[in-house]
Amino acid sequence: MNPKPGNTRENVPLDAGTIFRHSRHMAILKIARMGHPVLHQVAAKVTEPTSADTASVVRNMLETLEDVGGLGLAAPQVHISKRIVVFFLPAARTGEGPNDSSEKLTVMINPEIEPLGAEKELDWEACLSVPDLMGSVPRYTKIKYRWTNLDGTQSDRVAGGFHARAVQHECDHLDGILYPMRMEDFKLFGYSKETHMNYDLMRSGSAGPKDATDEEAAA
Ligand SMILES: [Zn+2]
Repeated sequence: MNPKPGNTRENVPLDAGTIFRHSRHMAILKIARMGHPVLHQVAAKVTEPTSADTASVVRNMLETLEDVGGLGLAAPQVHISKRIVVFFLPAARTGEGPNDSSEKLTVMINPEIEPLGAEKELDWEACLSVPDLMGSVPRYTKIKYRWTNLDGTQSDRVAGGFHARAVQHECDHLDGILYPMRMEDFKLFGYSKETHMNYDLMRSGSAGPKDATDEEAAA
């Protein structure tokens, strides 16, 4: 997932302490863009989460994520059709709702999502594979998600708000789904630079505070 327009690389830094050390074995990978077949297929389950091969893919994804300045990346976005997601959630991007927590860099192998309740809400999303655009997408407001770690152990979390949204966005990539395919109102889809200056449009596509001082809507 991309930071919203205005959130540049400078104000959403990676937590350097949580990522792999740079080494000459790392590589910045090319990002696949909407229309490329790798983004539109169901990615394969990772059968050996603890293998050197899996760790190598993850290292390259982390370096790529840092280079492009995104919040999250799924392996199909770098032309690798495997069920791997890396993401982090800076405190500045999380809301005040329940379970909308910030998270340090998280590496998920074979993640699975379980919606907790049927409630959905609209909010804006951007995607490294859909450059320059943003759209307002309905997502479950509360989910439980679980995954396998690189050491083979299992983890799970309950997430709400932007946290839940980001995980749903990334895991959709593993099933060949890009956020425009989840949209129901294409009036709420546009070039980021234009959309961000259109306050009424921003507000109508956001589940957040309708206050004019709302940072995202006003930026
Ligand atoms: Zn994306």
